Amino acid sequence: MTVLELRRLNARQSQMLEDLRRTQEQLKVLAATDALTGLANRRAFHDRLKQEQALIDRKGLPASLLMMDLDHFKHINDTYGHPAGDEVLRHFARLCGQVFRASDLVARWGGEEFIALLPRTTLGEACCVAERLRQALAAQPVVVEGGVAIPATTSIGVTEMAPLQPLGQTLRELDERLYAAKTAGRNTVVGDTEAGHPRDA
Ligand code: GH3
Ligand code: MG
Ligand code: MG
Repeated sequence: MTVLELRRLNARQSQMLEDLRRTQEQLKVLAATDALTGLANRRAFHDRLKQEQALIDRKGLPASLLMMDLDHFKHINDTYGHPAGDEVLRHFARLCGQVFRASDLVARWGGEEFIALLPRTTLGEACCVAERLRQALAAQPVVVEGGVAIPATTSIGVTEMAPLQPLGQTLRELDERLYAAKTAGRNTVVGDTEAGHPRDA
């Protein structure tokens, strides 16, 4: 009798440990995921970015970053409502899933801003990917609940990571290029420091 009970208790304990392990795994995934889009969140992206920088420092392999910000998104919310805006964000995330490779990492950086890391990708190659994404979004409006079609575009800054360059500096450069894409008229890709400025004047 005692042996039987001990076995039962032992089995129950094993099951509880297994459940706990699974819950911990789920929590780990949730902590790294953006709830609205299912993409990686900012913290998870930053962790991966630090690893990639260490790899670049050691091996000198190329890697590029894209910063994408949806254009006039406040106007989309104001015109079609916040839930429709959320749907546009989800649509953009799905589009990213189609355009980027499985080895790339895309994250929601915040609000209507997204960031992508493209390992082993030069600046020129990354600009081509950015251009494909820009065109894909601009090509057809996002159809939301009720069949309403919402036109949406994105501005994109692109930069290549460099060995031993502080991440803060790389991200600042990326941000400047995104800003240049905005000031160049939006729905634009900027992959170099000079581009985008002519229309500023
Ligand atoms: P720009 O072309 O210069 O980027 O203009 P913008 O209107 O896109 O930029 P702005 O920063 O003025 O507005 C961003 C808006 O994005 C405001 C904010 O309410 C909205 N937003 C941020 N997060 C979410 C979200 O999770 N869902 C929805 N629907 N809207 C969001
Ligand atoms: Mg915006
Ligand atoms: Mg923004």
